[in-house]
Parts: sequence; structure tokens; C-alpha cells
Amino acid sequence: MKTAIVNIGTIVTGDLKAPFADGDGILMQDGRISAIGTLSSDQVSSADVVIDAACTTAIPGLIDSHVHITFGDYTPRQRVVGYLESYVHGGTTTSITASEVHTPGRPKDPAGVKALALAARACFLDYRPGGMRVHAGSIILEPGLTEADLEELVKAGLWLAKAGFGAFETPFDYAPLMLAARKLGMVTTMHTGGSSIPGSSGIWAEHVLKSNPSVSFHVNGGPVAMPEAGFARLVNESDIALQLCTAGNLRTALLTAKLLDDAKQPERLLIATDTPTGSGIMPLGMFYTISHLASLGGMPPEQAIAAATGNNATVYRLNSGFLKTGRDADVVLIDACAGGSQNDALSGLRNGDVPAVSAVITDGVPRFVGRSRNTPAGMRTVRVAETRLPRDFSGAAAH
Ligand SMILES: [Zn+2]
Repeated sequence: MKTAIVNIGTIVTGDLKAPFADGDGILMQDGRISAIGTLSSDQVSSADVVIDAACTTAIPGLIDSHVHITFGDYTPRQRVVGYLESYVHGGTTTSITASEVHTPGRPKDPAGVKALALAARACFLDYRPGGMRVHAGSIILEPGLTEADLEELVKAGLWLAKAGFGAFETPFDYAPLMLAARKLGMVTTMHTGGSSIPGSSGIWAEHVLKSNPSVSFHVNGGPVAMPEAGFARLVNESDIALQLCTAGNLRTALLTAKLLDDAKQPERLLIATDTPTGSGIMPLGMFYTISHLASLGGMPPEQAIAAATGNNATVYRLNSGFLKTGRDADVVLIDACAGGSQNDALSGLRNGDVPAVSAVITDGVPRFVGRSRNTPAGMRTVRVAETRLPRDFSGAAAH
């Protein structure tokens, strides 16, 4: 399938080094971005679907790197079906599991946690709720697991490991398995902050430094923050990616962003939601955190968008997250909301407003064009200008 977007007002790339792209068009073919900039009339006329962006802003599909996946499009914690599909209407096109720890009665023995992670991974390989790509299957590190177990998992295609809910005596005890997992090429993640479920102990900077994970999960607290001194330690004594979560402590989120900016390492900042959790289901969570950083933290909105897209893609080694040729064709069109005080999406974010999501394309396929069911309408009318396919792209069927 070939999809073209024309008449884009601003193209935000997700790349901190070159946050904007010239031109007003994006061409997508077979799930990849095949051209970006000014499209030729031949390129536009060859497309199966042409979307008129009406001068709105194109950004990469958001990557939520902390989603509490279980099985199917269902969250046992909030007893709700269809939340992932709803997140697509909030601009999230990729979800990465925070480990399948919310699976009711989840196993805790080595064979059981291995089976849980492998099954979760397999269940989402071809299943795209609402068009979303879900990276599921993160091994929950528990006592008794060995390096040989990890090797077996890596051979089976598993690439995520999680420290934080295991029955170890102290959080220092995760270190040997965490270091081994990373040596095997896994992306390792570690709960950071106060305990989020009864029985799990607080994990603070000294514990995280010892395990040296790829990512400090919800460094701002999930939902409770670690002691204050730990933030500067993680920024200055490691190169760990620091994940800010919407369902965390807002003050320490802003503190972490500032510390990384001061250290001139903004690429280490990742945005995620840490939902569904006790904090609820938050389809607009990614945009709330982007707007908090842009309005309260003074961060340029394109930098905050990169933290929610390209930075996540780089740390998790995904092909999505950037509006560049060859990358996954996951594109979101956003606008200032109708009736607000601002005239474009980026000004709205600076003002602290969430944007209107006007279209979401994943894997090169328009999932809806016109209006998200979760945001106000935009200032401008994004529409399908031409299509050769007998399909309704309004998203109405999902309402
Ligand atoms: Zn979590």
C-alpha cells in the first residue's frame, strides 16, 4: 500500500540533531517512509490514498516505553478492554511492555516467568490493536533464573529484561542477572523509586547504578520518587536512559529534564506513561507529559516530542520514532485545538495544551483521518483527498 500526505505545515522529525525537515509531504510504501520533503506530482498520483494535512504538524508516531501489557487488548488492573486501540487515538503507535507483571496470578518461578515472557512476546508479534505495534515479553527477573536461562530466551527472540518485582532480598541482588542480560544484548530496565506494589521494596539510585540498566524506569517515580540526591547521581555517574512517566511525580520529572539539559545529554530523556496502572488509563498521557515539559519546563516542544519518539527508538533499537526515509511509516498529524488561544500544535504545547490528533498512520495504513475520538477537534480539517480503496478512514467504526 502506498500512502501520501501533502500540505503539511511543519514536519517534526523526532531527531534532536535536526528536529525539523523541509518540505510539506511524506510518501509511504509497504510500511516504510519512502520520501519526505516536497513530493513530485508523480509520487502523489501513484499513491493509493492521499491525505490533505491542511497545514497541520506531522510528528513521528509516539512510542510509549512503559505500558502495562498483559494479554490481548485488556488491562486487568482497570478491568477495561480496548485501551491500546484507544491509545492509538492519543497518537501512540508503538507500545513497549513494562513486563507482564500485571497478569493476574503471574508465575514467579524461573520456568513460569520465562513462559510468561515468551508467550506475551508471541501473542503480539502479528497482533496490532487499532494498528499499534506492541513489543511485549519482558522477562521479570526472579531468584533462581540463571545466565543460561537468559541465553535461551535471547535465542528465542526475547530482548527485554525487567528488574523490580523479583523476590530478591535487596535490590542490589539484581545486578548479576542484569549485567548478564545486557551482555547478551538485551535492553534492561529497572524500576526506580518507591515501591509501587505491596511487598516490593524501594529502588534508589545506588541500586540502579549497581545494575547499570539500559533504562531507569519512571525515574521520576512510579508513582513515588526516590530521594532527591539520587537524580544528580543517575545523571552524572551513568549513561543510563532516564524515563519520565506521566503517572509519576511531576516535580521530579521537570528536575530530571533540567539536569539532563544542564549535562547536555537530552538524548537520554525518554517519555512514557506507566499506564494502565492505579493511575488509570491515559490515552493522552504521552501528550500531557510533552506539554508539561514544554510549558512548565521551558523545553522546546520538538525536543519533548523527540523524547517521546526518536530517543525511545534509539534506546530500544526500533525502526520507528523518526520521520526519515527508510523508517517505519508511523505518522501522526497534530494541530492546535479548535477554540483554544493558539494557532498551531507546537504553540499549543508551549501553552500547556494537549494537541488535537487529526490523523494516525501506522505501518503506512491510515487508521483514522479527521478527528481522534479522544481529543477536541483541530483548528484545521485534515481529510482524505483521494483514495483508490473502498475503505472508510474516518475511524467512525471504532466510535
Ligand atoms: Zn510500571
